[in-house]
Amino acid sequence: MTRTDTDVLILGAGASGLFCAMTAAARGRRVTLVDHARATGRKVRIAGGGKCNFTNLEMHARHYVGGNPHFPKSALARFTPWDMVSLVSENAIAWEEREHGQLFCLRSADDVADLLEQRCRASGCRFLLDQRVEGVEHDGEAFVVTIAPAQVAAAEGGTGSHAQGGTPRDAIDGPGKPTRLRAASLVVATGSAAWPQIGATDIGHRIARQFGHAVAPSRPVLVPLAMAPQWPLHGLAGIAVPARVTTAGTSFTLPLLFTHRGISGPAALQASCYWQPGQPVEIDFLPGENLDGLLRAPEHGKLLVRTLLGRLLPDRLAERLVAPDSAGCRIAELSKAARTALHQAVHAHTAVPTGTEGMRKAEAAAGGVRVDHISSRSMESALRPGLFLTGEVLDVTGQLGGYNLHWAWASGKAAGDIA
Ligand SMILES: Cc1cc2nc3c(=O)[nH]c(=O)nc-3n(C[C@H](O)[C@H](O)[C@H](O)COP(=O)(O)OP(=O)(O)OC[C@H]3O[C@@H](n4cnc5c(N)ncnc54)[C@H](O)[C@@H]3O)c2cc1C
Repeated sequence: MTRTDTDVLILGAGASGLFCAMTAAARGRRVTLVDHARATGRKVRIAGGGKCNFTNLEMHARHYVGGNPHFPKSALARFTPWDMVSLVSENAIAWEEREHGQLFCLRSADDVADLLEQRCRASGCRFLLDQRVEGVEHDGEAFVVTIAPAQVAAAEGGTGSHAQGGTPRDAIDGPGKPTRLRAASLVVATGSAAWPQIGATDIGHRIARQFGHAVAPSRPVLVPLAMAPQWPLHGLAGIAVPARVTTAGTSFTLPLLFTHRGISGPAALQASCYWQPGQPVEIDFLPGENLDGLLRAPEHGKLLVRTLLGRLLPDRLAERLVAPDSAGCRIAELSKAARTALHQAVHAHTAVPTGTEGMRKAEAAAGGVRVDHISSRSMESALRPGLFLTGEVLDVTGQLGGYNLHWAWASGKAAGDIA
């Protein structure tokens, strides 16, 4: 086995690993990144439908869920959305602001991933791509990480890499040969297990546990919610409406999309961050409207219920929400009970999802390494000095809207300033 020395060894050349590497290398640190994918920043490149919602102008700790709601504050204060805007703008990456303060690349998410990779390479960072982490230990002086070519590991029955194409691998020691890397600082930036089809794993959680950190159970979030077969609104796949979705006391008024299995669209994806198995979700299909007021309005008295609802909602949805015996009634003829039922169906439709569509459809995973023994300023472990954890591997999960990538940048920078 060969010994390879570096100052900062970063596991994961994704969003936070690249940002950390760029920052540490700019301080003159010798940096090595290891990733089992063949290309850097795989999730960055597919983020935001390939346009990468890279930050949000409205950035607060309240946009994050996790065991300690205050934890993100320090890193977010020291790397703001405008810092990210400056970085992309200074490098001639065109971007646009969309609704709710979300900033997207105009051309391609590759622009952001390529920029970070180029910055790293220009500062002398070494990339060991297509390399799988076999083991991590601390020999009393430094971290020792054993890596092996991912393809060989896969052929031998290991998990290996699922990545395709991208940057050519930086060969280090000939195929099949494990290599040991020693470093004073180890940064675990291996993300979460969400979207495993591009090689996401939970290795970061295993490494954190090895050094004594507790890990909150992972669950898929920013993910469509599935409904039971008997849910009365099945069969509306493709219909999108503005709606207010409420679960666990948190509401989002955003577009809602019916799917073949349940609900998706921004309102459902946001709600999935707060939803817990067994809990109901409540959907208001006419947020901001007052159906009771419309039903009481004298000019509507002679209208059929289905006519009024057909003016407010897509026909097929309206048909499902109104009880068949009410649909053909004139509004003035509706009983008090029928009005109450209609109000309930339209403003407070309640269902208990059977689950989510799982990690393969999840843009993020909630849970992760608990932050109790992690410095919010530097992301350094208090249990093992020199160990840093950044990005989605931590128990910090952003809402939809550029918050997860911004956390990856901000936490990667916080570690890169110190590691
Ligand atoms: C489809 C999709 C769309 C998204 N869109 C957005 C968006 O528009 N805006 C936004 O803010 N967020 C978005 N996200 C979330 C965002 O991409 C992630 O939160 C962010 O990339 C996390 O950064 P990270 O550095 O922690 O992990 P990652 O970027 O996932 O990087 C982790 C790296 O570790 C490597 N790795 C993992 N396991 C191993 C192992 N065993 N050995 C070696 N290497 C390993 C991976 O190959 C990867 O390169 C999206 C996610 C998905 C899946």
